[in-house]
Amino acid sequence: MAVIPVDLSGRRYEVHVGRGLLENSATLASRFIRKDRVAVVADENARQLHGERLAQSFAAQDCTIAWYDVAPGEGSKSWAELARLTDWLLEKGTERGDHVFALGGGVVGDLTGFACAILKRGCGFVQLPTTLLAQVDSSVGGKTAINTSAGKNLVGAFHQPALVLADLDTLATLPAREMRAGYAEVLKYGVLGDRVFFDWLTENGTSVLALETAALEHAVATSVSMKARIVAEDERETSGTRALLNLGHTFGHALEAETGFSNRLLHGEGVALGMVLAARYSARRGHMGPDEAEQVAEAVSAVGLPADIGSLKLGCDGKTLVAHMLHDKKMDAGTLPFVLLRSIGAAFLAKDVALNDVAAFLEKEL
Ligand code: NAD
Ligand code: ZN
Repeated sequence: MAVIPVDLSGRRYEVHVGRGLLENSATLASRFIRKDRVAVVADENARQLHGERLAQSFAAQDCTIAWYDVAPGEGSKSWAELARLTDWLLEKGTERGDHVFALGGGVVGDLTGFACAILKRGCGFVQLPTTLLAQVDSSVGGKTAINTSAGKNLVGAFHQPALVLADLDTLATLPAREMRAGYAEVLKYGVLGDRVFFDWLTENGTSVLALETAALEHAVATSVSMKARIVAEDERETSGTRALLNLGHTFGHALEAETGFSNRLLHGEGVALGMVLAARYSARRGHMGPDEAEQVAEAVSAVGLPADIGSLKLGCDGKTLVAHMLHDKKMDAGTLPFVLLRSIGAAFLAKDVALNDVAAFLEKEL
């Protein structure tokens, strides 16, 4: 098992990565359990598949769980669900010093984290992430949010968890496609900041996806460590360092928007394609060589993630994709910050990227 400390200004929490953590969750989180009844907000699938191990651990400590079920899917990150959850937590008598547990993927983590950020002006919460994406990304760093009609994650708060228990055993039940989508975020850490990790993933990516213990633990722990380091440097995304975590996300977002945020393209698949585009666009601008950009594409396709946007058969032009990046801003706003690469392992924030050039580049890729 690995324990990664996250050090933020004046506060510190731990991310535990390993197998069998849910069985020991009540012990590992004992500092955060004040009552004989604990609220657990759970994704319905995660609860059905892994809730019993959590319940037994709590029962062994004479603590029962009050379950709050969340329907799977992005639709649960809504005002309506937030209202229902906060009402339920208040009805259960949740106090500021209490900790609410979140069992599930990024949807449950983001929703619960936000509810806890505003409940009595802030109560504690513990993340029990059950998807690879949630373990390496959304459960760490304190961004919480819901979606509104204006877009995804537009209403939220920074609210750090008190503890994160990333139990690798939960990943055994994750559909292969979701696992691969989460792997795109793992690869992202190598591409943006760690050439050694990127090379290691090139060798061991299939072992990670096959859930081999040592490889999986190394991949998750290394990813969490890098996220923790970056977040500690720039908790509220003011200096630009945290923005590096958005590598592949601007291009990816355009593709997700064009495919209607549907099952056609999962977020991680969009990120995989977006990283390839960011690498190729970096080569087009002369920041790195084209061969190195193709190494990113190879690492993506080697694990069965999409690397070619032509395969999406979008039937739109480059300008349409750029318009998605801008949300409601005008194309002739001119520029947008992009995370680009000087080499694999060395991302930087480029603030002078001309959008008509991006559109022309995408036109050729489509
Ligand atoms: P998710 O929470 O929707 O889970 C994906 C699917 O997997 C769901 O159908 C869920 O029911 C199922 N599932 C969960 N655990 C399972 C398990 N162990 N076995 C089988 N099925 C399981 O999706 P996600 O990819 O975990 O998270 C995506 C969300 O995370 C998005 O809303 C995104 O905005 C958010 N996010 C937040 C941050 C952040 O910093 N807060 C970062 C990245 C992403
Ligand atoms: Zn992402």
